Amino acid sequence: ITISPQQIRDNQVVLEKEQLHYLTRVLRLSDGDKFIVMDGVGKWWLTSLQSEYGEILEALEVQTELKVSISLLLALPKGNGFDDVVRICTELGVDTIVPIISERTLLNPSSQKLERWRRIAAEAAEQSERAFVPTIYEPVSFTQGLNLFEAEQKYICEGRGDNPHLLKCWRQVGEGQLKIVIAIGPEGGWSQEELENAVNAGFKMVSLGRRILRAVTAPFVVLSILAAEMEN
Ligand code: SAM
Repeated sequence: ITISPQQIRDNQVVLEKEQLHYLTRVLRLSDGDKFIVMDGVGKWWLTSLQSEYGEILEALEVQTELKVSISLLLALPKGNGFDDVVRICTELGVDTIVPIISERTLLNPSSQKLERWRRIAAEAAEQSERAFVPTIYEPVSFTQGLNLFEAEQKYICEGRGDNPHLLKCWRQVGEGQLKIVIAIGPEGGWSQEELENAVNAGFKMVSLGRRILRAVTAPFVVLSILAAEMEN
């Protein structure tokens, strides 16, 4: 289960009501049974259930994070497509997701949606045995998104034109990088002005291949390409 760091007191985890319900009713654990607790910011513990507490038995080493931190600036797609994007990108190792309101996405989601995405990220991180739960930002404008991070490599995905492939660009610089930022557009694509602004802000235009991918598919392709390069 995922807890907040404040739930740790001395060598014990103070379990919330729903967590206790999940452990005892859904998983049917009894006193003395073991379960794993993660804090979402790098730590995992093997824990034993002791009535309403978890007693920490040992810290576990988890090495499931990618070597390079990947932040995605994602123009919000229509409908519920973003739920899957958050879940699958978390499984694939994303560090940060920034929902972007771009020229061709006018959708400004409700705060419930943001909470929902954060919950999906926490659940997916737990199931993928990640040490960190990705950070999901509140939606920001395209211009704010461009200037949000200091990163060694910044890319903007654009399917039209003769742009070099992301993999080729990454292979030229890959080793030794710590942080990259990648922007992916909405169904209607980026406007010319957005592309120009991105290039002026230091983003390199890259291709993901000759076929145009749906806005909700492109993030998985980006992460799969980069994760495969970073895994060993
Ligand atoms: N109608 C849009 C156009 O003509 O550009 C298509 C946009 S596509 C459905 C959504 C976003 O996914 C694009 O803005 C881009 O960021 C990314 N994308 C999709 N296919 C791509 C490709 N082959 N290469 C690079 N980026 C791609």
